Amino acid sequence: MFSYRHAYHAGNHADVLKHSVLISIVKYMTEKPVPLSVIDSHAGAGLYRLDSQALALSGEAGEGIEQFLKDPRPLSSTLLKDYVETLTAFNTGKKTTLYPGSPFIIQHYLNASDRLKLFELHPTDTRLLEQHVAQLRAARQVAVLREDGFEGMKKFLPPKSRRGLVLMDPSYEIKSDYAKVALSIQDCLRRFETGTYIVWYPLIARAHAHDLPKRLKTLAQQARRPWLHLSLIVKSSKFTTLPGQLVDVMDRQKRPGLPGSGLFVINPPYTLAGLAKEAMPELLERLGQDDHANFVIDSGG
Ligand code: SAM
Repeated sequence: MFSYRHAYHAGNHADVLKHSVLISIVKYMTEKPVPLSVIDSHAGAGLYRLDSQALALSGEAGEGIEQFLKDPRPLSSTLLKDYVETLTAFNTGKKTTLYPGSPFIIQHYLNASDRLKLFELHPTDTRLLEQHVAQLRAARQVAVLREDGFEGMKKFLPPKSRRGLVLMDPSYEIKSDYAKVALSIQDCLRRFETGTYIVWYPLIARAHAHDLPKRLKTLAQQARRPWLHLSLIVKSSKFTTLPGQLVDVMDRQKRPGLPGSGLFVINPPYTLAGLAKEAMPELLERLGQDDHANFVIDSGG
């Protein structure tokens, strides 16, 4: 049914942006002693090896985490230092070979009373995720659900403690995912307007991709909730498509690789905008590949 496997993309520049911001949010939200409920609606396999055949084939980690870590300049931003510290916690040797996906990044910061629901539909990745989670000492606070994340998360909102975080990170393999994300966020805000929501999306030459952050901004504004929008372009898209022609996001033979990605956060921690302002120029310096490289920070509410 699905051909997308995150194993080919783990540790790419989009993961660096997404995971460093995710860490900052989870760290902030787990500081209070009130139980936190976290939903990862599109979880993937949870853990990846950077020396895998899949990543050697795609070369994506090379342009992402490997390029980021190779840079000899010391990091100055707190958000990026925390990201590196988290990766270090998963790697006992000097070399970073194990790359944690969002499920393991989130779990790493949870307190005993916090809960994590992981939705994954791909049969192979669900099996891998279950195996990875079973190895955790805290496996009981984590549930793996082989269900559609968009639908399945509804039953967990609002959480009893009224403290919740949702990461919505689809592969956008199906064009309808863009509309589903917007509808889902609308539904989530109706059920639980004070929850924190993180949506990842690719910056590609598709109208749906450009429209999504605009739709999310409208939804946040209609719900009168604060929002933060971050995007990072690392290279030119070099697309030679005709108007209306579709580009397969995940097909490396038809495209020069993902040029950039964005994160739209609703109800962000109040500290996040400041931390992002510090981190985005440093991310750009480390991950930018050509003159098209750029970042945008926008917020409201
Ligand atoms: N969040 C992961 C991370 O940061 O490590 C990466 C997730 S990957 C971009 C998207 C995942 O969503 C894929 O593993 C795919 O199989 C899964 N998926 C696609 N549609 C889904 C759906 N409707 N519900 C749950 N999972 C889905």
